[in-house]
Amino acid sequence: MTRPITSWLSDMDGVLVHEGVALPGAPEFVRALRDGDHPFLVLTNNSIFTPRDLRARLAGSGIDLAEESLWTSALATAQFLVDQMPGGSAYVIGEAGLTTALYEAGYTLTSADPDFVVLGETRTYSFEAITRAIRLVQGGARFIATNPDVTGPSQEGDLPATGAVAAMITAATGRQPYFVGKPNPMMIRSALNRIDAHSETTAMVGDRMDTDVVAGIEAGLRTFLVLTGSTRPEDVQRYPFRPTQVLDSIADLVDRVPEWAAGPA
Ligand SMILES: [Mg+2]
Repeated sequence: MTRPITSWLSDMDGVLVHEGVALPGAPEFVRALRDGDHPFLVLTNNSIFTPRDLRARLAGSGIDLAEESLWTSALATAQFLVDQMPGGSAYVIGEAGLTTALYEAGYTLTSADPDFVVLGETRTYSFEAITRAIRLVQGGARFIATNPDVTGPSQEGDLPATGAVAAMITAATGRQPYFVGKPNPMMIRSALNRIDAHSETTAMVGDRMDTDVVAGIEAGLRTFLVLTGSTRPEDVQRYPFRPTQVLDSIADLVDRVPEWAAGPA
């Protein structure tokens, strides 16, 4: 039996926006969720920005969202660390998105004998910071990274991302990080907890099979793949799992939010 979908999680890049421009139907989709009082979060593996930064960037694209409606891998990482060790300490390589999340979660940021080394996305990696992280991991600090993506997009081409820098620290230390962001279903489960939603009545919308869809499936959600991002229709069948539905864009979901909430016909 098919249960209604009353709560929604949506990936951000490739679903709602692409390089600062709203994708078709994105503002309307967010409005439909808000008008219908549906709990929802917009997810991103990018840990650079705070929810406030992201809210402003999305507003510039014509997508009107509250800060509270954004769930980043930095927030998920902070939540994970608090669950693991409340009041702990961390040496952080990352930007405001990550340092703010950890600080607000009650963590002490220090380079002196921290409980964790936490690696996030940044545009300003320094040799000194990476050397410090390597020595701390060698000394027993637990190694956490916000997301496993090895590259990120820019208008000039790919940029090295968190996963690539993590690989350097792994090569030097022999220690693998625990990655919190997608495809780890931890990212989805922490988002569900945040909005008090249940997996059976929540759907995940994404543009990638190997992150959004697989993480959604593993967390027990129904999944919608949109083709406005990095996946082509012919790619879908190469995976050993499939989304609940494949859609051209999120515009195809706008009118169906109330239908899904009403449950199966
Ligand atoms: Mg995406």
